[in-house]
Amino acid sequence: MPLIRERDSKRLHIKGRLMGESLVSESFLDSLEVAPQQRLFPDVNVMKIGGQSICDRGKHALPGIIEEIAANRDEHKMLLLTGGGTRSRHIYAIGLELGMPTGIIAAFGSSVSKQNALLVATLLSQHGGIEIDQDAIMKLPNYFAQGCIPVTQGMPPYDYFAIPPEKGRIPIHRTDVGTLLMADLIGAKSCIFLKDERGLHTNDPKKDPEAEFIPKITVSELREMHLDDLIIERPCLEILENSQVVDHIQIIDATQRGNITKALAGEHVGTLITRD
Ligand code: ADP
Ligand code: MG
Repeated sequence: MPLIRERDSKRLHIKGRLMGESLVSESFLDSLEVAPQQRLFPDVNVMKIGGQSICDRGKHALPGIIEEIAANRDEHKMLLLTGGGTRSRHIYAIGLELGMPTGIIAAFGSSVSKQNALLVATLLSQHGGIEIDQDAIMKLPNYFAQGCIPVTQGMPPYDYFAIPPEKGRIPIHRTDVGTLLMADLIGAKSCIFLKDERGLHTNDPKKDPEAEFIPKITVSELREMHLDDLIIERPCLEILENSQVVDHIQIIDATQRGNITKALAGEHVGTLITRD
């Protein structure tokens, strides 16, 4: 590549499309042609095991789910992520009343979700369960070659750099977001959220018995409904909308035996949220 000395600023450039650009200009970004995103591990299913919805149920939910995951090991590659649940909410509440900034609250969330990753990996240890750090993700082929089921905590690693939200100081990018970002990063085969409700409803079914189940919906249809509460973190909608490799996510009731197996087989058993 030829080097170019800028006449006025004397900067030494390498000739290319991005040189001298702020990378902020809307018209520049519109005009920029990039190659389609590569799918790094298109045969891997990314699954989130809910913290509050699953892990907090302990022996009343986890053993059955662990068994079902283990039974699918030979047929499906699975990368598991975990949420934090009630222990996260406890330290969030204490941190918030003591004036902790968003970045500290996020770091609390990561460390609690890591407890659940260790819990799930330990329960899966007889079946190849292995707790991995998020930055070991490019070693996934090694883990699968050895018949492992890798488990990692689901908080995206923003921690101290978590973006202060519009309202309050609870980070909006938590373990649902981390799971979907991971699915986008690796170009996963599927992105499945294991929770304790049939899927998305018009309202939280635990609080509103009239809430209606929504089997399938697009991101923009969901936005137009302006629901007060959702079964997944709100930024997931934008991430799905902008993803080049993930075109839907599925939220399932993993407490119902068989649903994980069906979802891994590509069946529609919960709510499908699709990119428009
Ligand atoms: P996780 O532990 O997987 O992060 P959460 O407890 O944070 O799960 O979120 C899942 C819960 O969200 C469900 O158990 C349900 O009670 C609640 N919820 C809130 N709004 C909705 C909705 N519109 N549809 C379905 N569930 C909802
Ligand atoms: Mg949650």
